[in-house]
Amino acid sequence: MIDYHLHLWPHGQADVAPTVEYLAGYAEAAAAEGVVEIAVTEHFYRFGQAGKVLGSFFQRYPDSPMRTLMQNYWQDNSTADLDLYVEVALAAKAARLPIVIGLEVDYYEGEMDVVADLLGGYPFDVLLGSIHWIQDWPFDHVGDAFVQSRWDEIGIAGAWEAYTRALEELAATRSVDVLAHPDLIKVAGHLPAVPEEFYDRIAEAARDSAIVAEVSSAGWRKPVGEAYPAPYLLDKFARYGVDITTASDAHSLGDVSFKSSELRSYVTAAGYRSLATFSERKKKMIPIVQPL
Ligand SMILES: [Zn+2]
Ligand SMILES: [Zn+2]
Repeated sequence: MIDYHLHLWPHGQADVAPTVEYLAGYAEAAAAEGVVEIAVTEHFYRFGQAGKVLGSFFQRYPDSPMRTLMQNYWQDNSTADLDLYVEVALAAKAARLPIVIGLEVDYYEGEMDVVADLLGGYPFDVLLGSIHWIQDWPFDHVGDAFVQSRWDEIGIAGAWEAYTRALEELAATRSVDVLAHPDLIKVAGHLPAVPEEFYDRIAEAARDSAIVAEVSSAGWRKPVGEAYPAPYLLDKFARYGVDITTASDAHSLGDVSFKSSELRSYVTAAGYRSLATFSERKKKMIPIVQPL
């Protein structure tokens, strides 16, 4: 197995200097769960470099409490140094830890060329693409009653439509290699009555842009209580010939490679026999090894 979605720091933590020893701890925890390669994929917005090019991104939306919330959240979180992050990850690779260097990149409507330009200057192995907010609505802040109240205004079908459209747009930019948690919009348990159309569009977007889909155990830790993607969407990916990674989306050492063996059963039941790994943003398939 692989764990291709790992954060080094919990949200909100400001003391964020990585070390090779810290990454070695991640690799060791992953190996104990039968994982042969990990990708460190910190949020792009955790780095000051992101703030320099996208710092006023949310100001494009109408002045509202939601916009203010996102602008403040962005500024509070952008404290790390991308150069140091990459430097330490390179040192971990040089020390022969089974690590690849990645980043989780959000969809910034109309700005992905700017993002791609900036990231093109770094030796990333893999870039994850995520939809964490729809315009200025950070729908996955499930603990925030104000954020969750937006569901009443937009409705479940409306939210899924907007999410799916954003994902299609992100895929079409071809600026990322993997679609992270492809049905994240369900995080708080809001599921459409008829998911078929959305699932088809998500799977088609991945296939048409030759992007890999992530299968993540993180959903099992969230209110929805279901892996990303849902079983039916995973079947669609398989039928559309979309390759997959597996991931825990851990934000601390304790969750590294969370439920890795359950993920193995989940993806093999859907017919998958191999996983996509990346080196210098080139894909290489490896077989899923069953435990002895
Ligand atoms: Zn994410
Ligand atoms: Zn993540």
